[in-house]
Amino acid sequence: MRPSILSPLFAPLSSIIGLGEKSQKLLKNLDCHSTKDLIFHLPINFVDRRFAPKVCDAIAGRVATLKVKVIEHIAPQKKSQPYKVIVADETEQMTILFFKAYPSTIQKNLPLGKWVAISGKVEQFNGSLQMSHPDYILPAEQIETLKKVEPVYPLTAGISNKMLNKWISQALNRVPALPEWIDENLLKEKNWNSFGHSLFAAHRPSCLNDLDPNSYARQRLAYDELLANQLTLALARQKIKKQKGRELKGNGLLRKKFLENLPFKLTQAQEKVLQEIFTDQAAPFKMLRLLQGDVGCGKTVVAFIAMLNAVECGFQAALMAPTEILAKQHWENFQEWCSCLNIRCELLTGKTKTKKRQEILSDLALGKIDILVGTHALFQENVAFHDLAFAVIDEQHRFGVHQRLNFSNKGDLTDILVMTATPIPRTLLLTSYGDMEYSKIDQVPEGRQPVDTRVMPVEKIHDIVAALKRKIDEGSRAYWVCPLVEESEKIDLAAAEERFSSLQKYFGDKVGLIHGKMKEAQKDLVMEKFKTGEISLLVATTVIEVGVNVPEATVMIIEHAERFGLAQLHQLRGRIKRGFQASTCILLYAHPLSETSRARLNIMKETEDGFKIAEEDLDIRGGGEILGTKQSGFNTFKLADLSVQKGLLLTASKEARLIIQQDPDLTSTKGYALRNLLYLFEQDEAIKNYKQ
Ligand code: ADP
Ligand code: MG
Repeated sequence: MRPSILSPLFAPLSSIIGLGEKSQKLLKNLDCHSTKDLIFHLPINFVDRRFAPKVCDAIAGRVATLKVKVIEHIAPQKKSQPYKVIVADETEQMTILFFKAYPSTIQKNLPLGKWVAISGKVEQFNGSLQMSHPDYILPAEQIETLKKVEPVYPLTAGISNKMLNKWISQALNRVPALPEWIDENLLKEKNWNSFGHSLFAAHRPSCLNDLDPNSYARQRLAYDELLANQLTLALARQKIKKQKGRELKGNGLLRKKFLENLPFKLTQAQEKVLQEIFTDQAAPFKMLRLLQGDVGCGKTVVAFIAMLNAVECGFQAALMAPTEILAKQHWENFQEWCSCLNIRCELLTGKTKTKKRQEILSDLALGKIDILVGTHALFQENVAFHDLAFAVIDEQHRFGVHQRLNFSNKGDLTDILVMTATPIPRTLLLTSYGDMEYSKIDQVPEGRQPVDTRVMPVEKIHDIVAALKRKIDEGSRAYWVCPLVEESEKIDLAAAEERFSSLQKYFGDKVGLIHGKMKEAQKDLVMEKFKTGEISLLVATTVIEVGVNVPEATVMIIEHAERFGLAQLHQLRGRIKRGFQASTCILLYAHPLSETSRARLNIMKETEDGFKIAEEDLDIRGGGEILGTKQSGFNTFKLADLSVQKGLLLTASKEARLIIQQDPDLTSTKGYALRNLLYLFEQDEAIKNYKQ
């Protein structure tokens, strides 16, 4: 139950005076759904209305608040002309202009002969002063209410700054005095004020420094948000750590045999990571570890060897892949490896025929299957294992923290290894995985050829097609990637289809098309044709399944490369560097290309190190955008800006760990204060399991 002290902040938007249904809908565009969201909607600028001179002292180009008498109304002769109102004080007169306004409204607000207070930007025209559409027109006696600094908020169509100011002021007045959740020493050291004070200060900027993320108020609020995030992750982690697990210590026989048959030696990085995994498996707690490693660094082999450890102990192991294609690919691989080890590996996907499916399910329950490969979806259904000891999740970022926890709640004693090929910069790792254990394979097997990456303008397309034709005639296979052009999939698809038909003119039936709107079966068919070489050129929207392995594909052309995130380009390029042949990646860009975009594309040319690329991308663009936040499952922050506040994140991370050590159930006075924080940032999933 949410503490009642927070209720005013969770009141619906409809409780705010003057905020109607239509505006409530529009505010969703600003991610404002309740009162609390309004207070976290921080200004990006301000207007200073404190300058209140006589008309003769008003300065063109500057906002002024003036007390003036209405002298004359001049209605326009033609529609295109403005409605003019002449006003004056004892020093000088000026003109107020209204374009396309209702005369009746103007006459009501500026009654002839009355004194009024107006505020807005003063302009100069033909030597005299004027003001178009004053921001405010009030009766003269209310002028003092106008003379202040007014925050300027990010807006959306249909919502004016004036409206937001009114609503946010109301919301701010509802902020209760909350018990402090930040450590006192830290508060002193950083010179931070209370949560309430900081909020007020952040909404009342009066100089540019107040808008800086490094202002005390904004720092504190950012820290609050980061602390809530880190605390949630730490709580989740603790919950898992406390869970009992099996002590998996196999006799090593299967592993030995497997390694003897393997045509290569494991890299040092693979060895190191394996030891980390074995240690986890042997511990009496449940394992949850993230295995990070660039495409092609050899994660799958490592995962398989860890699975063998479980099988040696007489248990079952499973691998869940994000797509059918990937599941099948893993299984084909495993089949080969398992056959010389005399153990049984099966594939279970949505496409498995009923009869086979029933056979697999019953054998699985009887323990006759050692290793099962399938898609995530399948494992969320009720697949009953005889005794599942170890599960590998090939993740690709489709899951949030809580979903991940649900996974591990499934099998009681199942150890979990999550694999990801996405190079996640340290900072982001911390915000979406917290202090989850993680291993990193930071070395690629020897003998790999670097990809020859070139950055070229789209005008060269004819030369490129000609070169591609030669390559394909020699037997090469190539991807042609068309980007997300618009939000709408329809338009993207149209672009890809157009490219497909224009390439058909050169390559005939050697070209195939694959896109997100196709049915799984259709996609599989095209992919299969590409694998077997029936198709040599595959035109694709960005759906080329992450991880799909066609070793013969050695060429990739990416259109409008400037529109992709670097991490995404890196993933795509990974498709062609799996083989040991030389390969070529052409990044086509269209003009105009900004300096930043050029710099980004050049990074792709300079390095193939995914971590380096991800770090650079983070520095250039900030965290949220790195993979397109929505798909990536990374947290985005409302108040914190990771490109400048990495330091605060680290502090929050340390602090969260300390809190969990000292007060794991959040039952101290500070613990209860922290619960408020978690609710404020909607991290209450994390506290659901705690006693009130
Ligand atoms: P990832 O899953 O990390 O993308 P894979 O495990 O699929 O990488 O490995 C990519 C390719 O490299 C596979 O063909 C695999 O057999 C091979 N490979 C893995 N480890 C090594 C190694 N140490 N030396 C040489 N080749 C390796
Ligand atoms: Mg793989």
